[in-house]
Amino acid sequence: MPELPEVETVRRQLDELLRGRVITGAAIHWRRTLGGQTPKAFALGTRGAHFTEAKRHGKNLLLHLQRGQAEAGVILAHLRMTGRFFVEPLPRILGKWDRLVIELDRTHALVFLDVRKFGRVHFESDAQTVLSGLGPDPLLSPFSCRNFAASLMQRRRALKPLLLDQSFVAGLGNIYTDEALHRAGLHPLRSAMSLSATEAGSLHAAILRVLKAALSKGGSSFDQFYRTPEGNPGAFQDEFRVYGRHGKACRACASTIQRAVLGQRGTWWCPQCQPTPARRQRSGAGFKD
Ligand SMILES: [Zn+2]
Repeated sequence: MPELPEVETVRRQLDELLRGRVITGAAIHWRRTLGGQTPKAFALGTRGAHFTEAKRHGKNLLLHLQRGQAEAGVILAHLRMTGRFFVEPLPRILGKWDRLVIELDRTHALVFLDVRKFGRVHFESDAQTVLSGLGPDPLLSPFSCRNFAASLMQRRRALKPLLLDQSFVAGLGNIYTDEALHRAGLHPLRSAMSLSATEAGSLHAAILRVLKAALSKGGSSFDQFYRTPEGNPGAFQDEFRVYGRHGKACRACASTIQRAVLGQRGTWWCPQCQPTPARRQRSGAGFKD
């Protein structure tokens, strides 16, 4: 599933592709893509508006709209498993997996393609209502080390499920959580509140480091679906240290990478770099194999 670096890569490109373009129509080919909104409400909200800026919070894309000089809401998109945006000139032939086609300036189409249909795109007159339940986004301020450490201290949960919780921090998924924990030398089952100030600082730095490194490579193409809007795959998967590397040698210490299921998610770690927590450091959540 695309995480922060992949969604940010998409955001940057959509920002370039869409700025100033006017929405002249919309065709919905898979109704559930609108997440409960009616095609009529989507059309009424968006038709005649133009794109100003593409923003992002966590894994949410926010395509801001204006009518004249007035703010006119946002198109809110979540790519989920396999959602992809691209822009093509008209006329075009409808693709098998095209779920939503937004006409731009009567000359182009912004297409939302989604093989597995979990992605969501809808119009929202006020983006804030949607974002209010989300935690800080690590690449947007404020994500200070001090605040992050303070919120860790208040949580008993294991680091892995806590970092996946979008209300705690927005944008991390399975890949970058495991990669950040390895870089910080922290076992995924450590209780957040057991971290020392130094460890909390290492984790904060590791999250930023891994997200920025991935972003510089256009994200990771961990399956055949993720493509940037230009159709290119990301390249960061070649630099994974633990994710998907079960049984392989740790790139830091040559120990064998372990895998287990935690909270229904595959979790990878190095037993040497990320020592098993002492009983008092555990959250109570256990691994299931
Ligand atoms: Zn190691």
